[in-house]
Amino acid sequence: MRIDSGTIEGGTGTDVEDVSAFRARAAEWLAATMPPAVPNRARGGDDSIAIWDRARELQRILHAGGFAGLVFPKQYGGQGLTVAHQRAFNELCGPYEMPLLLNVPSFTIMAATLLDFGTEEQKRRHIPAILRGDEVWVQFLSEPSGGSDLASARTRATRDGDHFVLNGAKVWSSAAFVADYAMILARTNWDVPKHRGLTMFIVQVHQPGITVNRIKQVDGSAEFCEEFFTDVVVPEADILGRENDGWTVATTLLAHEKNAVGGGSPYISGATALIERQDPIGELVELAGGPAALEDGHLAELVGEAIMLQEVRKHTIASVAARMARGEMQAPASAVLKLFDATSHMRTSDISVELAGSGAASNSGLAGRYLMRQARCLAGGSNEIQRNIISERVLGMPREAAADRDVPFRELGASRTSRA
Ligand SMILES: Cc1cc2nc3c(=O)[nH]c(=O)nc-3n(C[C@H](O)[C@H](O)[C@H](O)COP(=O)(O)OP(=O)(O)OC[C@H]3O[C@@H](n4cnc5c(N)ncnc54)[C@H](O)[C@@H]3O)c2cc1C
Repeated sequence: MRIDSGTIEGGTGTDVEDVSAFRARAAEWLAATMPPAVPNRARGGDDSIAIWDRARELQRILHAGGFAGLVFPKQYGGQGLTVAHQRAFNELCGPYEMPLLLNVPSFTIMAATLLDFGTEEQKRRHIPAILRGDEVWVQFLSEPSGGSDLASARTRATRDGDHFVLNGAKVWSSAAFVADYAMILARTNWDVPKHRGLTMFIVQVHQPGITVNRIKQVDGSAEFCEEFFTDVVVPEADILGRENDGWTVATTLLAHEKNAVGGGSPYISGATALIERQDPIGELVELAGGPAALEDGHLAELVGEAIMLQEVRKHTIASVAARMARGEMQAPASAVLKLFDATSHMRTSDISVELAGSGAASNSGLAGRYLMRQARCLAGGSNEIQRNIISERVLGMPREAAADRDVPFRELGASRTSRA
């Protein structure tokens, strides 16, 4: 189930349960088993360990009921069902408390990339554990010197017989403090151009030689982390993909990420976007101060604009996903979803605050989302980088000049190109 060819497929096969029968079975099971949804962040934000423990607990319940990893192959602990089953399931999940935190990056990015590049042993070891909620994963990609120019990673992995020795630093790693495993991009060859000397490794996060520090953010939370690696020993069996071919793994991982963040990933489980699992019109009207407030034409226009953005987002996801599935669009098209998600979320946050007026300051959920809206324009690659990908790799426009493309990495200074 890989998307490097531009195709996103769900499980297939003739013995797959009919979607409407599955929907009825899932509806009954959810109503009998899952607890009701809790308000957003009611448990203390993504930076509390309790919320992650709760997500693992909920995932174990889903797993025991046969509703974990619906589109993952059965041999790796999934249910071998199709994207249509997953969609039907997601539509039912709104009223229930679900382990949504595990979607990004564990299911939609990390398990998906393991499926694409893992050895049989790596897949059998990790994917079932991820789907059981036993393993939470994190990506160690960005570095203090910059995240957009990912191919200039300076964290080094030096071969020593049948293992590598890892040294360097990573930053902006979401929730590394609770993660069990990471994929880390490290330089293994300094004598070739930057894209050709990287290797992706699997590492256990909490082990001697790895220091994980939490970073306090503007909203007071501390979900981001920075890590320092000092002589960490990584067996060669923990290479993901091939030695010095880490860029291939990284670009596929990033396509999964753009799909996940943009809302098009087939691996997303549960109703993820707040606006999708609640009543969007009702929520906006309530923010404005109730139906009577819409007699003010400007406020009514703002509500209309927010609903229009939500509709366009929904149809853009459906259109791009369908065209990718038919092979008419390739993996870089996920940048369209990512960019639209970021820009429309930005605008919707601004609209929500304008609708709420001075009440926005005392609405902690709204204020938190407002403060984090810029993050969406950076996470998984900035808006500028998505625009570069769309122009160069979707529309076929000329490539951005890059003086460092064919130069051995060792000979480069601090030159920068793009996270593409
Ligand atoms: C919420 C969130 C979660 C994240 N989680 C993770 C994670 O789990 N793991 C991880 O490794 N990283 C993570 N990141 C880091 C993220 O990947 C980087 O922030 C992102 O890639 C940008 O890198 P940077 O912040 O170093 O900015 P820089 O690369 O320093 O860029 C600075 C500015 O320059 C612009 N720019 C850079 N190059 C170009 C170019 N060629 N053309 C035009 N403009 C350019 C950028 O658009 C940006 O506006 C996360 C970030 C956020 C906000």
